[in-house]
Order: sequence, then structure tokens, then C-alpha cells
Amino acid sequence: MFLGIDIGSAYGKALAMDEDAKVIAAVLKPTGLGGAKLAEYLRLELAEKVGSNPDFLFTVATGYGRVNVPFANKTLTEISCHARGVNFTFPQARVVVDIGGQDSKVIVIGPKGEVEDFAMNDKCAAGTGRFLDVMARALEVDISDLGTLHNLSQKRLEISSTCTVFAESEVISLLAQGEKREDIIAGLHRAICNRVYGLLRGRMKKAQSGAVVLTGGVARNQGIISAFKEKAGNDVLVPPYPQYTGALGAAVIARELWLKKEGRQENV
Ligand code: ADP
Repeated sequence: MFLGIDIGSAYGKALAMDEDAKVIAAVLKPTGLGGAKLAEYLRLELAEKVGSNPDFLFTVATGYGRVNVPFANKTLTEISCHARGVNFTFPQARVVVDIGGQDSKVIVIGPKGEVEDFAMNDKCAAGTGRFLDVMARALEVDISDLGTLHNLSQKRLEISSTCTVFAESEVISLLAQGEKREDIIAGLHRAICNRVYGLLRGRMKKAQSGAVVLTGGVARNQGIISAFKEKAGNDVLVPPYPQYTGALGAAVIARELWLKKEGRQENV
């Protein structure tokens, strides 16, 4: 069994893949614990879930906390791992938009999942999961309910502030004016998509496929997917478990490197 482990800013994710490139199980945990403790927790939790020995054949670690995975055989950037994870799920896809806890990225990928170009916003919380985490708290709703609430929206509200701090004040004022939470939420989703679309626009031309793949924890939110479809006007594809894309790519690479080491490249 191979292990892909992605220690992100918000969540640690781990995914087990077998020799036939079949995904066996995956686990995630908020990054709270941090450091090597989180990596060890994920490894043991996953091994227990799949009933395997916690000594995986090969482990690739990614994410901003990848240096804190002492048992990793190799570390790689989340950009490379996301690209491979998307290629595994959607081999035709050429453009990826990954919205995580503290950054958003646009990655243009080649036919084998190689990175051809990328752009990243990691300077500002607007356009990241953090923006939605702050707003969900201000609105007193659970992050996992944002998508359902978005679908109830019947009035188009625009959130004019692009900065997270100002947008939070704007949300509180809108609530005080009697605006409905679902309309505010749909407005917030459009604001994030506008922000991320700025990164995407220039790179669409380089990609041959018209479809955009949305990944990261924020792509679990159906409201974001709807807002993105409206903004991009392209086909938007979402993997079944978008938050695991980096861990999936890491596991794909772990398997590939191990097969190479064993002299069995023909299976790659
Ligand atoms: P990172 O890799 O930076 O740790 P993730 O890709 O794991 O980030 O995404 C984390 C973000 O995903 C959170 O900030 C949150 O906004 C969003 N998120 C997490 N769980 C859910 C959920 N159940 N529904 C909607 N959004 C979610």
C-alpha cells in the first residue's frame, strides 16, 4: 500500500492507494495538532482504517507542512501533487483551480499531469477558504451548510468589499438591514469566484481543454461550484472528493516511484 499525505494550512489529509492504483481509504483532520504529531496521527488512523501495517511501501508528503512528515520517502510541492491528482481523475483536464484554507492557485497541466504554468494568491485571505470561514462565523452558520443555503437565495446581493475584514463588517451591516443570510452567502460566493477568476483569466488560453477542474476543501461547497460555473461560463468539473486531490496526487507519485525503484516501470 502507498501513502499520500498532504499537510495543508487548514487540514491534514492522508490517502492510501494499492499496487493496482485503486484508492483504498482516506482520512482528514484539522491541522490544529500541527507538526509531526498530525502526520503520525493520520498515518495510524489510515492504517487502522485499511487494516494495514502502518509502514507503507512508499510515502510522498506534500502541502505547506510537508517538512513535518518524518516518515516520508519524498516531499513534493502541492502544485505538482494537485496536478497529478487531477490528471488521475480527469486525464483530459488542463486547467485546475484549487481553493484551500489559506491560498488559491490556478495550475495549467500537460497530458501526463505535469505542471506547465501556475499562479498563486497567498497574500490575501479574500479568494481563499479562510474568507468563507470568517464569514460563516459572522453569519453563525456551519461551513458545511453554506452550499445548501446558497441554493435558497432569491435576491442578488453584491458584496462590494474585496478585503476580508471589510467584507465581514459589510456582512454584519447587511444582516442588521434585514437581508437574508442565504442572499448574503450567495453574494460572498460570487465575490470569491470573481477574485479567483482574476488568476484564471490569463491562463485559460494556454489550456487546450475548455473544462476547469475545481479542487480543494472549498470545492466541497455546492454554492461555490454554482457561482464558478456562472462566472467562468466553461464546463466545471469537480472530483468526487476534491479536498483529497493533493493527497491523491502524492499517492499516485508514491506508487510510481516505488514501481520505478522495483524496476516495474511498465505498470506506471
Ligand atoms: P488546506 O489544504 O490549505 O488545508 P483545504 O483544501 O483542506 O485547505 O480546504 C480548507 C477549506 O475548505 C476551509 O478553509 C473551509 O473553508 C473549506 N471546507 C472545509 N470543509 C468544508 C465543508 N464540509 N464544506 C464546505 N467547505 C469546507
